Amino acid sequence: MKIGVLALQGAVAEHIRSIGLAGAEGVAVKRTEELDEIDGLIIPGGESTTIGKLMRKYGFMEAIRKFSEEKKPIFGTCAGLIVLAKEIAGQEEAHLGLMDITVNRNAFGRQRESFEADLDIAGIEETVRAVFIRAPLIQKVGSGVDVLAEYNGEIVTAREEHLLASSFHPELTDDYRLHQYFADMVREYKKD
Ligand code: GLN
Repeated sequence: MKIGVLALQGAVAEHIRSIGLAGAEGVAVKRTEELDEIDGLIIPGGESTTIGKLMRKYGFMEAIRKFSEEKKPIFGTCAGLIVLAKEIAGQEEAHLGLMDITVNRNAFGRQRESFEADLDIAGIEETVRAVFIRAPLIQKVGSGVDVLAEYNGEIVTAREEHLLASSFHPELTDDYRLHQYFADMVREYKKD
C-alpha cells in the first residue's frame, strides 16, 4: 500500500516518515502521473495560497478531483485542510472544494502563532499531542461530515467518507496514530 504526499510546498519529508512509522510506504508526489501509483494522498501544511497556485500550475486540481471521484482517500493537514474545503471564509474562491466544510484561515490569531495541545480524537485511544502553527479551524460542517476532534469548542479534525482533515500538524511529533488512522482508511477503500 502506497501513500503519496503532495510535494509542491510544505512539510513533505516529515509526513513520509510518519507514514513509514504507521506501516505503509510513503512517496513524494511531484507530477500528476504519480497519482496513478498511489492508494491515498496527503496534502501537507505550508501556505495554502502558494500550494493552490502550484496545484493549478501543474494540473493537480483536475487530477486530484479525479483521484477523489475514484474514492481514493485524501488527508489534508493545516494548509492541506484549507485546500480541501468547499468554502474558505472571507475568500471568493476555494481550491479543490471537495470537502463539505467552511474553514477560517489563521483562526487562532497572531498572538497564537503556534501552540500545542492534547486532543481527544474519535477513533483513537488516549490523547494525541497536537502541534498548531497559524492553524485554520473548521467553522461549519455539512451533514455528511463527522467531527473527530475539537479544541476549546472549535472543530480541528473531521472526516467525510474518504476525506480526512486536521487543523494541526500530525507529522511534527513521533505520534503516528493519526497517520495510522488514515492508513486504515486507505486500506478499507482499497478493499472495496
Ligand atoms: N495559515 C496557513 C494558510 O493559510 C496554514 C498554516 C500551516 O499550514 N501551518 O495556508
